[in-house]
Amino acid sequence: MKVGIVGTGMVGSAAGYAIALQGGASELVLVDHNAALAVAQAEDIAHAVPFAGGCRVNAGSYAALAGAGVVILAAGVAQKPGESRLSLLARNADIFTQVIEQVRRHAPEAILLVASNPVDIMTQVAQKAAGLPPHRVIGSGTILDTARLRWLIAQHLGVASQSVHAYVLGEHGDSEVLCWSSARVGSEALSSAAAQLDVPLTDQVRETIDTGVRRAAYKIIAGKGATWFGIGAGLSRIVRAISDDQRAVLTTSIQMGDVMGVEDVALSLPRVIGAEGAVATLMPELDPSETRAMERSAQVLKETAQGLW
Ligand code: ADP
Repeated sequence: MKVGIVGTGMVGSAAGYAIALQGGASELVLVDHNAALAVAQAEDIAHAVPFAGGCRVNAGSYAALAGAGVVILAAGVAQKPGESRLSLLARNADIFTQVIEQVRRHAPEAILLVASNPVDIMTQVAQKAAGLPPHRVIGSGTILDTARLRWLIAQHLGVASQSVHAYVLGEHGDSEVLCWSSARVGSEALSSAAAQLDVPLTDQVRETIDTGVRRAAYKIIAGKGATWFGIGAGLSRIVRAISDDQRAVLTTSIQMGDVMGVEDVALSLPRVIGAEGAVATLMPELDPSETRAMERSAQVLKETAQGLW
C-alpha cells in the first residue's frame, strides 16, 4: 500500500521512519510546504531501508499522493509567543482545511490518519473538511497514552507490555481517562495478576502510574522540546492495521454523533481498525467514576471545539 505523509517535521518523519522499518507500506511519499525538508527526510529515511524491508521512499508534491491508501496528516504550526490556544487552533484548522482539499483532490480513496494536535479537534476539522464518513478519518487519539499506560503497568509487574490489556480513552490530553477497572494482564484482572505475581498494586502505585501517563508528554518536552518516537510508532501501528486489514483493536479518535450524552465530538474509544478504516467500536465496561470522567472528557472537547464552528 502507498502511504502519504503531509507534514514532515518531527512527528511526520518519525512515522515515516517507523513505517519504513516495520513494513506497513510498499511506498512512502513525503509532502511538506518546506519542500527541501521533505526531500531531506525522504533521503534520510530511504537510507534505513537497506537495513529493513523493501519500501520506496520519495518526497513529492500533492500530486504524488495519487493512489495512496492512507495519508497521514502531521502538518501544523507552533504557538507564537503570547498566542492564545484558540488562535493557534484556528490557524492550524485553516492549514488543515487547505491541506485536505489538496489531499482529497489527488488521493480521493485515501483513509486520513490525523496526527496533528490537538488531535481530537483536528480529527473533527479533517472529517468536516474532507466530507468523508467518520470511520475513514481516524485520529491517533490516545493510542500513545494507552501504550504509556501498558508500558508503566508492565514495568511495575515485570511482564511484557504486549501482555497488558488496558486502555486510555477520551481526550488525548489532560482530561483523558485511564480505565483501571477493565485492565487485564493475560486474561487476569489487574489486581489478581498483581497478587499472583506478588507485586503490590497499591493506590499510591496507581497514582504514580496515572501521573506517569498524564505527565509523560510534559516530561519529555521539558527534556527534548517535543515528543516523536512513541507517536511515530503508534501511527505506524495504525497503518499496518489498515494495510493488512488486521481488524486490530486500537484506541483511536473518530467523530461521533453522540458520545456519553455529548453531541458532535471526536474522542478515543477502542476501535476495530482494518482496510475500511475504523469499522467498529468496542466500548469497555466502565465503573461509575470512569463513566463520569468520560462524560467530563467529552464535555471538555466539546467546549474546546466550540470556538471553531
Ligand atoms: P511536530 O513536532 O508536530 O511534527 P513540526 O513543527 O516538527 O511539528 O512539523 C510540522 C510540519 O508541518 C513542518 O515540517 C511544517 O513545514 C509543516 N507544515 C506547516 N504548514 C504546512 C502546510 N500548509 N502544508 C504542508 N506542511 C506544512
